[in-house]
Parts: sequence; structure tokens; C-alpha cells
Amino acid sequence: MAALTEVDVAPLAPERFESVLDPEQYDSFRQTVDRSRAMFEGRTIWNVNSTAAGGGVAEMLGPLLAYARGAGVDARWIVISGNADFFRVTKRIHNHLHGATGDGGGLGRAEHDAYEGALEPNVSELAARVGPDDVVLLHDPQTAGMVPRLSETGALVVWRCHVGLDMANDIAREAWSFLTPYVTGAAGHIFSREAFSWEGLDRDKITIIPPSIDAFSPKNQDLDRDTVQAILNASGLVRDGARGRPLFTQVDGSEAEVTRQAEIFEDAPLAPDDRVVLQVSRWDRLKDPLGVINGFAEHVAPSTDAHLVYAGPAVAAVSDDPEGAEVLSESHAAWEALPADVRRRVHLAALPMDDGQENAAIVNALQRYADVVVQKSIAEGFGLTVSEAMWKARPVVGTRIGGIQDQIVDGETGYLVDDPRDLEAYGTAVTRLLEDPEGAERIGGEAQRRVRDEFLGARHLAQYLALFQRLRPT
Ligand code: UDP
Repeated sequence: MAALTEVDVAPLAPERFESVLDPEQYDSFRQTVDRSRAMFEGRTIWNVNSTAAGGGVAEMLGPLLAYARGAGVDARWIVISGNADFFRVTKRIHNHLHGATGDGGGLGRAEHDAYEGALEPNVSELAARVGPDDVVLLHDPQTAGMVPRLSETGALVVWRCHVGLDMANDIAREAWSFLTPYVTGAAGHIFSREAFSWEGLDRDKITIIPPSIDAFSPKNQDLDRDTVQAILNASGLVRDGARGRPLFTQVDGSEAEVTRQAEIFEDAPLAPDDRVVLQVSRWDRLKDPLGVINGFAEHVAPSTDAHLVYAGPAVAAVSDDPEGAEVLSESHAAWEALPADVRRRVHLAALPMDDGQENAAIVNALQRYADVVVQKSIAEGFGLTVSEAMWKARPVVGTRIGGIQDQIVDGETGYLVDDPRDLEAYGTAVTRLLEDPEGAERIGGEAQRRVRDEFLGARHLAQYLALFQRLRPT
């Protein structure tokens, strides 16, 4: 059986960007497109990660590769396979890179063996397909162990780390020690922000490239108010109130309808006029679902009429995240323990993941419906959900950590809470926005402009091109 799966990516026209960028920005993007086409003729750019759905990396790869393909570049997406031991180790590394011990297990010889053993069939298969003029872009810890063998093919191998922490600690250094022998021979290393760069890697090989979102995907495309209501109604999140049909445009341009229901833990569904505070995140302790729930219960619910929705993926669906089910059940227990009058205003939703685009349309509708979006993470690489909400002109309250602080300019494009454990500060910021709809609207408008200028795919693709040109100017 093949170890690798190739994700089919249909091309998208880069010309689409004309409708969202200003003329100068678009002109510069056109030049990127033309240069890419010329530079990559007859070459392939292989992107490799460990899941085709769920999480920020998968979210970004689809559209970026689609626009590259639309520009005439043979950009491909390969997903590796692994066994339970492999994903246990890589989740542990992921947690360590965020400065947390995760399941508390070690990262020693046994873990290296499990890691390398599971990667072996993947790397053998890929090495046979990669040509010496190709580029291989390996994403995250799961693929780091593929660097040495793939470098032997003569291809330009770049490793990108999407996670990190602002102040390195010894837990993170353990993960760096585990991964450094693998990645040190890569031609380049990419981090999402300066503070995430590791000690011990060659400084000259490091490039900073922040993530981006796609303005046209089912996750971010424009939806009118009726459609938002209809999608939330169809997925069981809001009762009644639907006038439109639950339609969205799929990546291939066809129309589709939201039909699947979310699994929701709640006393009663939202009513159409309920005001909503929303966090969309995987069921991961570093997203602090318990803090989101308890902070809302203690510091938002008493002085407002708002409801809280915490939405994450159906837990069976995200194959590289074995902790999901556990965290969902912890969240459920926290919800059950709330006093009845608060509990009826807290809704935990596990969104259907059978169809990634339908899932995205539900997230889109939720983000557009929300009065305030929060991202109360304890650690965060970037936090795509922040830009997603900002693009929809939502006011966002996030913690001052990781890439969240690169997206939110405190007081201008959202609010930053200094201490992730400070539930009162989080609650105060949320309440302030709920009580000042005009201020919230102004912040939302600024947020949208910031995403247009900094966090769309055009900027991201131009940075990749510049890097590849610098590393191998052919
Ligand atoms: N997401 C989703 N459905 C869900 C939960 C999350 O599509 O039920 C998406 C979310 O909209 C975002 C991505 O998963 O695009 C999460 O990326 P982020 O950078 O916020 O966090 P990560 O999961 O990579 O830590």
C-alpha cells in the first residue's frame, strides 16, 4: 500500500486578486505570477504535510497551491501517513514546540526510532518521485525527518515550522534538539515570526513568512445575512429565522448546500437575535476551551445578554490530533458544571467534517454571525482564525501571544489581552465590545483593511517566490 496520498488541487486564477487588492498591490502580484511561471517551467514544487484537513496548515496549502497552479506552476500537495506511535510522538513534539509537555512522555531514542520508522516508507516513496531541479517544502515536525534523504535527490529542500513560542523554554529546546539533526541540512528554514526561530540553526538560512488566508474560499467568501442565517439554521446552530438557502460556492466554482448538522452540547439552540461571542478552534488545551467557557461565565455572562459558542471539528475527523476527544469531553464537563442560567447561554459545537468545504461554510457563517470573536489561546503559532474573523470585519479579542499579536493592533484592529490566564481581562475586553457596537464596528473595519494589506495569499506567494529565487537563482 502506498504511504503517500496526493491531494488533488485544481488551479485557481490568480486574477481573482484584482477584486480585493488595491491597484498597486495587484500590479506587484501580477509580476510575482509572471516571474513564477518563468522560473518553475519544467519543475515541481512538492508540499508535504501530515493531514489534508483540519488545522491551519491544511487550510493554507489548498488555496496557495491552487493559485500557484493557476499561475502555471506544477505545485503539488503530498500527505504522509503514520501510525499511532508516530502521531503520539509528533503531537508531543508539537506541544513541546509550544513550550508545553503535552502527554508528559519523553523524546529519546525510542521516540526517534518510532518517528523514523514511520517516516521511512513515506520518504522512500517521495525520494523516487522528486527530481534534482524540484523544490520540496516540508511542513512541520511530522515531515522534518524527511529532510536528509530528500536533500540527496539534489532538490531544493526547505523546512517550514508553523509553530513556536515567544520566549523559548527548556521544554521547547527538547523538541529543537529532537528535530535539529534532521532539519539542519535543509537549504532553508521558514518560521512564521522572528521570535519562533530556534537557537542553533544557521541564522542565514532562516526566513520569516507569516501565514495568510484565502478571501474566496468557502471559509472566507462573502455571504449575505440571509445565507448566514440559513447555513446556521441548516447546521442546527440557530433555530428558525432562515429566509435564504444554505448555499455557498465551492472551490471549483460550483454551488453547494449545507445539509449536515453539528453535534451540539447545549440546553437550547440559539435564537436568531441572540448576540454571540465565538471561538472557533480545534479541541486542544492550548486553545484554552475551559478558560473561554469559564471566563465567559464569570466575566461576560453576568453583565450582558450574550451567548458563547465554542466551535471545533467533529473529533474523529482530525487524524493527527489524538487529544481532541479528551479535550472535547473536558469542555463538556465544564459546560455541565456551569450554573443553569449561564449554561443555557453556552453552546459547544462539534462541526461536521465529512465535507471540508461544508465545514468551512459553517465556520464562515458563524464568524459572520458573531458579534465578537475571541481567540483566547495559551500558545499559538499564528492563529488563522484571527485573520479569518478580521477579514469579516469582526472585532477580535485575542491573547498577546504568538502570531495573534502580529494580526491585532491593540485598540485599533481588535483587543489584546496580556496574560492568557487572566480571565477577567478577557471578559472585560469582550464586554467592552458588546457594550459599544459602534466602536466594535470601527475596529472591525480597520481589522478588515489590515488583513487585506498583510494577510492575503498574494503577499505570501510573493515571499515564497523571493525565497526560492534567493536559494536557487536559476
Ligand atoms: N477550523 C475549521 N473547522 C473547525 C475548527 C477549525 O475549519 O471546526 C479551521 C479554522 O477556521 C482555521 C483552522 O482550522 O482555518 C485553524 O487554524 P489556526 O491557525 O487558527 O490554528 P491551528 O489549528 O493550526 O492550531
